[in-house]
Amino acid sequence: MIEIAALDAAQAPLGTPAKLPAALGVGRRGDARRKRGELQKAVGHIMPEHRVAGCGIGLVPGASGVAVYQSVEGTAHYGNLKTCGSVWVCPLCAAKISERRRGEIQTAIQVHYAQHGEGTIVIAAYTASHKRGDALSDTLTRFLKAQESMKGNRPYKRLMARYGAAGWIKSLEVTWGGENGWHPHCHTLLFFDKPVDAEVFRRELYGVWRDEARAKGLSMTEARGLVVQSAWGEVQDYVAKWGHEPTEPVWDATAELTKGHSKRARGDETGPRYTPFDLLRWYNQTGEIWPAPLFREFATAFKGKHQLDWSDGLRARVGLGVKESDEEIAAKMVTPAVLLGEIDRERWAAVCHYEQRGQVLDVAEQGGWDAVVAVLDHLLEHYRAEARGPT
Ligand SMILES: [Zn+2]
Repeated sequence: MIEIAALDAAQAPLGTPAKLPAALGVGRRGDARRKRGELQKAVGHIMPEHRVAGCGIGLVPGASGVAVYQSVEGTAHYGNLKTCGSVWVCPLCAAKISERRRGEIQTAIQVHYAQHGEGTIVIAAYTASHKRGDALSDTLTRFLKAQESMKGNRPYKRLMARYGAAGWIKSLEVTWGGENGWHPHCHTLLFFDKPVDAEVFRRELYGVWRDEARAKGLSMTEARGLVVQSAWGEVQDYVAKWGHEPTEPVWDATAELTKGHSKRARGDETGPRYTPFDLLRWYNQTGEIWPAPLFREFATAFKGKHQLDWSDGLRARVGLGVKESDEEIAAKMVTPAVLLGEIDRERWAAVCHYEQRGQVLDVAEQGGWDAVVAVLDHLLEHYRAEARGPT
């Protein structure tokens, strides 16, 4: 039996029924999951026509209700729900896809070092100059074209051959700052079979990148156009954080100070930089609408772009199979799990209406199916009362 306690008013999202099991679901995992759900609802408000709006809400064809599963590790998740597989705009799918992809990157690094004790991995961070007012689609197109043609040009190939490059993994990212606008950039992990002097390599690679970017109408400074890191700790740190959205908002001064060590690309001398999901948080938490058109601009520019690319042959070299699509990963059940029960359509509508998807999973993990049923009945009661209107 669970106790239905009053939810702290400050924590209650708008329109949440007054009484919910506040004692449950306060864990770190549940907290991050609830925040992702709230952000995804925000994307749904900003882009109601996009399939992200129905991700984790709509049922798959033929399903009678929403299944609730629990894995052997105790994590609860839903089944029978549609997933959108949009790594750029969907906080729910992005978390799942990044988790899988990060595991693959870690495997590649471990296998590379196991096979080539003398080997080196460097992170090359490429960018180009930009200013506020530049259209993201234009900057991004030029940037990606420059990256693409660089990989095919002779000076680049000769440089990589000379250093014994065995392959690469490229991650595309973007941040936005009030000072300088959109900042598309990519981090490329370069795998070498032998030791590399990172500074000598950086100077040579910078010349190749600068020339290619110039040919596409982009400019840069040497200090910012290419940054190369090669220390073991830097590579490990980068991969451990890759794809993880910071859980604290970027504009919270206290969080910034206390989490200073875990910041990555969170700002520089031109002021704070926001990830697209930071823009969503701002939209959600302040009620200001200015981030909405920026997020739409980002979604349009990044549609269809690969978040992560592997060079030919690298996956096979480190023993990984064929790369799955984002959609395949998003739709897959990750670990073996048992079915706890099924939520009927009306109760599910109530769960979504009050955005309690994360909370219901918290309750399942901590109180089991009986606790879930109690919460569902409680939500349904409110939902029906609201539908009837004031009496
Ligand atoms: Zn999704």
